[in-house]
Amino acid sequence: MYLHGTSRINRQGHLEIGGCDTVELAKRFGTPLYVMDEEMIRERMRSFVKACREQTDFAFRVAYASKAFNTLAMCRVVEEEGLMLDVVSEGELVTALAAGFPAERIYFHGNNKSKGEIKRAISAGIGWFVVDNFVELELLQQVANSLGQVARILLRVSPGIEAHTHSYIQTGQEDSKFGFDLASGQAFEAARLSKKMKGVQFEGLHCHIGSQIFETEAFTLAIGKMARLAEQCEQAGYPISILNVGGGFGIRYSADDKPLAVEEVIQAIAETVKREFRFAAHQPEIWVEPGRAVVGEAGTTLYTVGTVKKVPGIRKYVAVDGGMTDNLRPALYQAKYEALLANRATETETEVVSIAGKCCESGDMLIWDIALPKVKQGDILAVGCTGAYNYSMASNYNRLPRPAVIFVNKGEADIVVERETLEDVIAHDRIPMRLQKQMVSEA
Ligand SMILES: *Cc1c(COP(=O)(O)O)cnc(C)c1O
Repeated sequence: MYLHGTSRINRQGHLEIGGCDTVELAKRFGTPLYVMDEEMIRERMRSFVKACREQTDFAFRVAYASKAFNTLAMCRVVEEEGLMLDVVSEGELVTALAAGFPAERIYFHGNNKSKGEIKRAISAGIGWFVVDNFVELELLQQVANSLGQVARILLRVSPGIEAHTHSYIQTGQEDSKFGFDLASGQAFEAARLSKKMKGVQFEGLHCHIGSQIFETEAFTLAIGKMARLAEQCEQAGYPISILNVGGGFGIRYSADDKPLAVEEVIQAIAETVKREFRFAAHQPEIWVEPGRAVVGEAGTTLYTVGTVKKVPGIRKYVAVDGGMTDNLRPALYQAKYEALLANRATETETEVVSIAGKCCESGDMLIWDIALPKVKQGDILAVGCTGAYNYSMASNYNRLPRPAVIFVNKGEADIVVERETLEDVIAHDRIPMRLQKQMVSEA
């Protein structure tokens, strides 16, 4: 397994993260356990901010796409590092507000924002809405007007670019549930309409062309298309001041992944905007909104090995105490992960096994064919790169309680999300009167 961030192998031959021995962490907090390397999270945010600062021709802003991993403590880190925050639901918004995150640095994404969500977000004083469709545009202006406010907006555009990635996570192609279609003129029409509305203020354009992107070309192509739309808008008398080019910066889940350096992507984005926006009286401010590139590599999940089963002549299954409930991505996208035995990290690999989850689904496999030392019951398996879209997609399938999340930093380990209890799992269940067990009265 590739060792990201502060991960290393200590003198006991154990995996250590943030100065904490993961075997000790497993003992202290139980498994499955999400371990987040706080220093690495901060370091990743700083690398985006620094790369953006170095592009001195432009004003850049970096937002964290909170859907990748959103908790109260995470919002504190995002605020401390000076990033903006993008949210896609009232739940993500409330998390940020409850953490004291400044509302004016929040903006709201999503293809089906409810009236209630819009009301709450305007009342809280968030910075911007990224408007996804005509129905939302109309609803937003109504709500803003009824509250006597003006909502600042970006329009989400579907630019018709396919980033080279698994089709389920492509969002930039024309046939998309997200955004105003560019090719058919919808996007321009939305800009034109919004300029006539009282409750909204059109400030810019947004696109997000996919995730796990490994080449700058996807961004440069999209920016070219967005620039033509911006030019059309400027000619019509409504120049844009913000161009948000989305997130999707690829990370290294496994050896097959070759992510670009942050500096390289940011530079390519800046150069392309400079070239494509020559027409503009003022260059727009550029926004980027990485999610997984901030938290993905900083997360590691610890599991305890349970049963080991050999299918003669076929394969050996090693089952762990979690699975698709804490990491849905292998089942959802055939995502690849690497792992090691945290308690015997220096031992040589002697066998190829497949890591199974404990859920009642044949598709609940975390890793196919991984080389490990001979695995025994009770070993601690560490799966790397689980910081993004793991905790945030976790479920209670099979009524498994969701794992705890801890932040580790310089030898300290702190719980940022408590492990769910079995009481939590049944806490919202109700038994209707007619189904309640009859108590036979003695009288
Ligand atoms: C999911 C998403 C992101 C973040 O994507 P990553 O692959 O995690 O960087 C950014 N912007 C929008 C609109 C998204 O939907």
